[in-house]
Amino acid sequence: MQPIHEFYPLLATPRKVVITMHQKPDGDAMGSTLALYHFLLQLGHEAQVISPTNWADFLNWMPGVEKVMDYERQTAAADQCIDAADWIFCLDFNTLSRTKRMEPKLLSAQADRILIDHHQEPQTDKFSYGISDTGKSSTAEMVYDFIENSGYNDRITSTVAECLYTGVMTDTGSFRFPSTTPSVHQMVAHLLSTGINHSKIHENLFDNFLENRFRFFGNVLLNRMEIFYEYNTALIVIPQSDLLKYNITTGDTEGLVNFPLSIRGIKLAAIIIDRGEERKSSFRSKGDFDVNIFARTYFNGGGHKNAAGGQNREPLEEVSRQFITAMKACRNQLSNYDF
Ligand code: 5GP
Ligand code: MN
Repeated sequence: MQPIHEFYPLLATPRKVVITMHQKPDGDAMGSTLALYHFLLQLGHEAQVISPTNWADFLNWMPGVEKVMDYERQTAAADQCIDAADWIFCLDFNTLSRTKRMEPKLLSAQADRILIDHHQEPQTDKFSYGISDTGKSSTAEMVYDFIENSGYNDRITSTVAECLYTGVMTDTGSFRFPSTTPSVHQMVAHLLSTGINHSKIHENLFDNFLENRFRFFGNVLLNRMEIFYEYNTALIVIPQSDLLKYNITTGDTEGLVNFPLSIRGIKLAAIIIDRGEERKSSFRSKGDFDVNIFARTYFNGGGHKNAAGGQNREPLEEVSRQFITAMKACRNQLSNYDF
């Protein structure tokens, strides 16, 4: 993988471009890809954003989202774009397996693959150019750097800024996580100066849910959460029947794992959801407990130090048992209360 600055001179010549992100894109994945999309259109490139799967409804206000293809639903058309592309930008993921069914197509494509990401242990041998920096708050911040450092500072329009703001705000937990550096705030100052309505963006993302989601949260917090005080750990286990009963769709469970983290003393919060085809887990931690390592070691996953996830094929009860075994194996790191 050549360093990203080697790529900058190529931006001047219009190309056919595909931009993709991890499956079930979150605010940062959708925000960073759409920001890059609007930027590349300004330079005269032909660009298409492809999501490996569907995404949460709360992203549907974003500028350009109506042009994004869902690979699972539009496979033939998306394959055509990938075949024709000169460049494929891969944003907000470290390994191609995070694009699920798109992976073989991305691997066989003739195009140069370009990585922009902030997850640990990227597959650098799979990319022609790229940058991977785990010190960055969000991929949105890295797309901002890409635009600035390639000499196109004047192309941060309010449309680009709205997309970047969405990415950095969601990935920093509204600017509260340790990844919120002085340069994040400097970037946000620039984004706000383009005239975006940041309060409205927050409202679009977080005040746009339906009643069923809150009834579901109520049920989960009352009936599906277990606290292991000895281990400063909370575990939520959700059977598929709950998802069906409350009519829960993609994105509705986002944020649920953070609730138990606000209980005094809780250092590790986990949620395991039976999605039918797989058991999806999310892990969040405070302080030194590294859930990236935890997810890699026990749950075929990964992520960041304080936010990670994984997936399993085994039945829900089996995955819950595995979690409890893993938690007990980490007793030394979990049982001391050090913050
Ligand atoms: P979430 O829990 O919100 O799905 O994901 C939290 C973080 O962990 C994100 O940065 C995401 O990229 C990462 N992550 C979630 N699931 C997986 C997984 O199955 N594999 C890997 N490598 N990372 C994951
Ligand atoms: Mn991200």
